[in-house]
Amino acid sequence: MMPVIAVVGRPNVGKSTLFNALTNTRNALVADLPGLTRDRQYGEFELPDFQATLIDTGGMLGDEGQLTDLMDKQIITAIEEADLVLLVVSSRDGLVGDDERILRRIRQTEKPIMLLANKSEGRVEELALAEFYQLGIENMMSVSSAHRKGLTELKERLNDFFRSAEEEFSKDLIDDHGPKVAIVGRPNVGKSTLVNRLLREDRVLAYDMPGTTRDSISLPLVWDDMPYTLIDTAGVRRRSKIDEGIEKFSILKTIESIKLSQICVVMIDAQEGITDQDLHLLGLAVHHAKPVILVVNKWDHLSEEHRLYVKEKIHLKMQAFEWVPLLFTSALHGSGLRVLMERIDMLMDKADLELSANQLTNVLIEAYKAHQPPLTQGLSSQLKFAHSGGNHPMRIIVHGKRTTKLPDSYKRYLENSFRKAFNLKGVPIIMAFKDGK
Ligand code: GDP
Ligand code: GDP
Repeated sequence: MMPVIAVVGRPNVGKSTLFNALTNTRNALVADLPGLTRDRQYGEFELPDFQATLIDTGGMLGDEGQLTDLMDKQIITAIEEADLVLLVVSSRDGLVGDDERILRRIRQTEKPIMLLANKSEGRVEELALAEFYQLGIENMMSVSSAHRKGLTELKERLNDFFRSAEEEFSKDLIDDHGPKVAIVGRPNVGKSTLVNRLLREDRVLAYDMPGTTRDSISLPLVWDDMPYTLIDTAGVRRRSKIDEGIEKFSILKTIESIKLSQICVVMIDAQEGITDQDLHLLGLAVHHAKPVILVVNKWDHLSEEHRLYVKEKIHLKMQAFEWVPLLFTSALHGSGLRVLMERIDMLMDKADLELSANQLTNVLIEAYKAHQPPLTQGLSSQLKFAHSGGNHPMRIIVHGKRTTKLPDSYKRYLENSFRKAFNLKGVPIIMAFKDGK
């Protein structure tokens, strides 16, 4: 779990001061990820058990900080992305009307809230918090961001919160209900249509299953009598709760879904072709070593001619991922769903494949004979034997001499040879090389 915390409050209560005190480095990790709006400030900080992300909503306001502007879409989007909302108030000013109005708005999102009474230096906690008890927020504490007082305790509190959230979370993630499948993609490509279609086709009401709540992040699916769990942290089904039309794509939640899954379905819109952001999502799935399928949806929308064109374009752009299987679907009409589920089963089997050292070494030697690595300084690398380094993620370890000199293109050649030999389309392989005496 990578907890996300949104810092919200009226102007001048000390949000930016708190943000800076907690993160030290502004905009560290996530600034370069695609899909993040520039005008939100993201920072990372360490909790005892977690790497947390902080979203500062301070910079989104004008100086006047009109409350109507204040709770505009972006702040709500920031809150939507968060696992916890830190409502910052000032114990110097005490409770003011704007605090209450902001709180009401946060409560509509049904996100967990913690109240932080800032500017509390020189006050005992009970007094600093006294005026705020009436808000009925259970989780409250006082700090002084400018004087760095109470920040260690704040981190402990946050850590406790996320630990128990994580326990709930894992309770929620039904165990032993088949492969965990994440369906990720940009907004409007058809993810919810697909999920609903899959669930409906099988007439299993996800919400009626024991152990699931409406907000649950896993959707049990039974397809052809086989259990699956669809992972949904992108809020696919939560859309109607918040104002329609708000961008609901969150790269952070997408990463979380990918991490929780055992297999990843990346969905794109055929009409739009494959965008850079789609490639980033594929890259994320591969980076986390998840077996992956690319689903090109809305195929029904295209003429024959357009289909050829789109296919060609996709193949061109997918060169780095040419081993990822493609599938063309129409979630709207339900075509391709059966094949998708079959592919998921196949991919799960492939990812579990146990390859013996004998099998791997045979392929290695054949590949080596067919195509020798280039000489460096008159010497060639030698490849002797290979064995498995485990599955999930699948590792293949190759032993030889001077393997550090192998060019990347040769390593890819070997990887492809293993892929071909064992039909490992869609399974990421991590190749490791070791030199013996
Ligand atoms: P924001 O608008 O909520 O982001 O607030 P800022 O972080 O810009 O802080 C507003 C003002 O409050 C600045 O002058 C800060 O120096 C001051 N401030 C922030 N934290 C504290 C604190 O803990 N104690 C006191 N006394 N002042 C603070
Ligand atoms: P999400 O944001 O990825 O969950 O996308 P939705 O499932 O909400 O779909 C966005 C829009 O695309 C909706 O209007 C759907 O009806 C439409 N849509 C989804 N799948 C298909 C499809 O296969 N073909 C066509 N023509 N439209 C689709």
